[in-house]
Amino acid sequence: MGNDIQQKKERRRENVIQPNKIAYLKQVKQSNMSEVLEKIWQHQQISRVELVEHTGLTSGTITNLTHELIELKVIREFEAVSGNVGRRRVMLGFDTSQYRIIGLDIGRATAEIVVVDLNGKIIRTIERDMSDRKGPDEYFGVIDPLLTEVKQEIEASGLTILGLGVGVPGPMDYGAGTLLDPPNFPGWRNYPLQSVLEQKFGLTTLIEDDARTSAMAERWYGLGRSIQDLVFITMGIGIGGGVVNEGKIVRGTNGLCGQVGHMTIVLDGKICDCGNRGCWETVGSIPGILSRWSGGNTMEQLTEAIRTGDSEALQCMEDTLNYLETALINVYNMYDPELVVLGGRLYPYLADYLLPVQNHLRSRLYAFAKDRLRIEPSTFGTSQSAVGAAALVLGFLLSEPVRLLALTEA
Ligand SMILES: [Zn+2]
Repeated sequence: MGNDIQQKKERRRENVIQPNKIAYLKQVKQSNMSEVLEKIWQHQQISRVELVEHTGLTSGTITNLTHELIELKVIREFEAVSGNVGRRRVMLGFDTSQYRIIGLDIGRATAEIVVVDLNGKIIRTIERDMSDRKGPDEYFGVIDPLLTEVKQEIEASGLTILGLGVGVPGPMDYGAGTLLDPPNFPGWRNYPLQSVLEQKFGLTTLIEDDARTSAMAERWYGLGRSIQDLVFITMGIGIGGGVVNEGKIVRGTNGLCGQVGHMTIVLDGKICDCGNRGCWETVGSIPGILSRWSGGNTMEQLTEAIRTGDSEALQCMEDTLNYLETALINVYNMYDPELVVLGGRLYPYLADYLLPVQNHLRSRLYAFAKDRLRIEPSTFGTSQSAVGAAALVLGFLLSEPVRLLALTEA
């Protein structure tokens, strides 16, 4: 009997140090740390007591985790004066002194590099015209020296780069980290972008469709800081979309979730590049709009014709707004977002009409949902995707802090 008890005790002791137990404890720590970081992110300034209230973790756990995060220079303490009595309180917020994130947008017409700190403040922006660069070799002939310079500059200041986020024209193979066959982007088919960049720069590299990086820019750094469900719609030469649900990017089975430009708007309409007929993109993108107007070739000309009261131009814009409204109703009923963000090169030409579109939309939505309808222009203009690419890395830090911080220590 005595032996049995002894053996049980030993087994129990062994259990404590079994590798799967260590992995489990790491997982618990990661999940707790992630929750703490998310709350600090949402509130920007929060006390330890409030962290206990918001996370349900014990004050001991909060003390330990925040201590560790302060040591790692991910968060820092600062004093805030609160209430009428002017009581000083120690608050926690993100520390912007140690880490930088690089965002890169690989666009058809332009490439953009941004450097941001942990609060999403843009420290540096570099933009280059790439319309004449064909294929990855020519493209990286321009980008490589710029990224190298940016990386060296950050490291020379004693700062740590958490990672490189990259926005690319979709669709892509997420498992392989390759671009599939982006339309109007010759030479990039099956290009192993993720591994090439990782090898070149030795940084944790995350790549994502540019409509989704744009959505992430709003979710992390823009309008959606405390919003968990949003749809970003980018309108330009094409129409793309990125869906964020419960704070996370939604891709779908084939990476096609949020391809709002390919919802059918005209039942027997023109054939689209995707193979479908009458997609919103065929009538609502810049080329789609201009194909329905015979008076000119640019959005500037169309805007001017509308200003002078040209009836064909007015009809073209009315149809454009009807398509937009129909698409938005479909987006609302399919995704039920808290926020819809509109961006892209077409948006400025439609901005003046947004209020009537919203008012009309309200009359077409479920009565109980209409008061919460919120449509806003994008926050970062032409830098949207590059900022969002950096936000991918921030999202990684907040969801898997132990993994990302361990990588930077190595
Ligand atoms: Zn289509």
